[in-house]
Parts: sequence; structure tokens; C-alpha cells
Amino acid sequence: MSEVLLEVKDLKKYFAVGKKQTLKAVDGVSFQIYKGETLGLVGESGCGKSTLGRTIVRLYQPTGGEIFYGGKKISGPLSREETRECCRRMQMIFQDPYMSLDPRMKVVDIVAEGMDAQNPSLSRGEREDAVVKLLEMVGLQKEHAGRFPHEFSGGQRQRIGIARALATHPEFIVADEPISALDVSIQAQVVNLLRRLQDRLGLTYLFIAHDISMVQYISSRIGVMYLGSLVELASSRAVFDRPLHPYTQALLSAIPLPDPRAEKKRSRIVLEGAVPNPVDIPPGCKFCSRCRYATDRCRRSAPAFRQAEEGHWVACHRYGGP
Ligand code: SF4
Repeated sequence: MSEVLLEVKDLKKYFAVGKKQTLKAVDGVSFQIYKGETLGLVGESGCGKSTLGRTIVRLYQPTGGEIFYGGKKISGPLSREETRECCRRMQMIFQDPYMSLDPRMKVVDIVAEGMDAQNPSLSRGEREDAVVKLLEMVGLQKEHAGRFPHEFSGGQRQRIGIARALATHPEFIVADEPISALDVSIQAQVVNLLRRLQDRLGLTYLFIAHDISMVQYISSRIGVMYLGSLVELASSRAVFDRPLHPYTQALLSAIPLPDPRAEKKRSRIVLEGAVPNPVDIPPGCKFCSRCRYATDRCRRSAPAFRQAEEGHWVACHRYGGP
């Protein structure tokens, strides 16, 4: 594959819960994102995928580990100029198009926010022209610039959020569940828009979703997270054709098949057992309590995240290792 754009090494983000407990939202995650690809990141709500996305774009300071962008370390303290450049190059699209747009601001000002910070010397006319160009790029029109968010549908609001993210000419976008809050009929339109923008602008995406079937059409590779850890990472095709981790296998078995006869015949993997308390995870494999293959070894020691096949990484004792 091509050039590495972003590298995350042993990244940790912990939150204090009360006086004595710690929530390890992201707990030692490592992966790379290649220039021009879409890496889909999936897992149940609360598995840490949004926290991981927010930590990458510096909305959260990591508790440990490192993040490199274009070979340069961007975690930890940066100069004001370096921070500005990071904000320009990396943008985020948020889940909820209702909550993420300020209802008191006109679309022109929402979209121009990032532009204003990066280029305050733009004239009023230049600023408006740039906003109109962005609105047209995401399928909206010039006259939308003067309206307020409540005048738009959910899909249109998400388009405004995408235009806002594009305003700084970023190279990398974290899309945090960008279609989860939308009607099913609108979801495909937004995914297709993101794909077209990727082709046109050479963007790289980290596309976060809780539903593995949603990421299939946009991702070149897919990472699966469970309780703060990455448990599988491979090409989209390998994940769907030959999932290795028992958790990924269960997620895939829950996707309904379009053919009703095939759907009737196939067997679902039902995850039994409780999810551990995230602030008190027992030693060993985090998936132990729900895994049909769990052994004493799994209860004793946590599996390393290792390459089981070329480009196919998994954290499970069933695929070798000490
Ligand atoms: Fe299941 Fe053991 Fe693999 Fe964990 S390490 S996923 S408990 S088989």
C-alpha cells in the first residue's frame, strides 16, 4: 500500500471516574492509516472508537502513547503554529447534525469558522465566494448560505457539517458516525458524497460506525474495537470473507442477508455472557466473558495484537503467539 499518513502507537486515553476508578476508554491501540484510504472503525457503543478519533484530532490529550502525522509527532505539546497547521490538515465530521451546528449562526458563518481562523485576512466577498463553492461541492446551493440550521433536513445539515470540515482544505478527516443519526434512505447519499469528495480531493478518512455493515461500502480496511482495544484489523474483504476474531464473527453473523432463503438457513452467533464493567475489567482477554472459545489461558493472559496473515491483525490466542 502507499505512504503512511497517520500512525498511532500504543495510544491510551483514560478518564477518572469518581475518586478511585479509571475508565480506560482507549487502552494501548496501534495502527497506521495510508494516504488516500478509508479505514473503517467499528464496535459497540462505548468501545472507545469516538474517543480514539477525538484523541487523534487533538480534541483530547492522550494519557499515553504517540501519534505521528506525515512522520511528525503531533501528540504532546506543539507550538501555536504547529497546532494551527494540525487543525488545518485534520478535521472532524460529527455524528449528530442537529447538535453539532450552532442554531444561532447562519450557514455562511458556520462553514467559514475554520477558514476565519486559518485566513483572517479574507475579504467579505472572498469569504462568501469560498463558502458558496464549498456548499456547491457538498450538493447545497448559494441561497442556503444565509439560512439557519433549523431550516434544513438531517441530511442537509450533515452536508453543512461536511462543508465546514472541508473549509480548511484538510487532507485527513475523522468521520465520527456521520450517518448513524440519519434516515436509512439518506445514509447512502451521504456515504456516496464522502466517496466522491475523497476521489476529487484526495482525502484520507477514519470512518467510525457502530454497525459493521455501514463501513463495508466505504472502507478499504476495517478495524474492530472492543472495550478500548483493537481486536482485529484487515482489508475490508478479508474481514468480511474470513473474520478471525470471535467478536468480529459475531458482529458479521448479525447482518441480515438480502436473500430470505439464505437468511433462514444461516446460523447467528449469539453473544452470551455479560460485558465486563469497563472500570473494572478482569485480567486476561477482555472478550473472555462472551467468547465461546474461551480457555483458562484466555482468562489468565491477554492476547497480543499480532499479524496472523499478511496485513491481517488479530488479538486472540487461537492464532498463535506465546
Ligand atoms: Fe476468545 Fe480466548 Fe480469543 Fe479472547 S483470546 S477472543 S477469549 S479465544
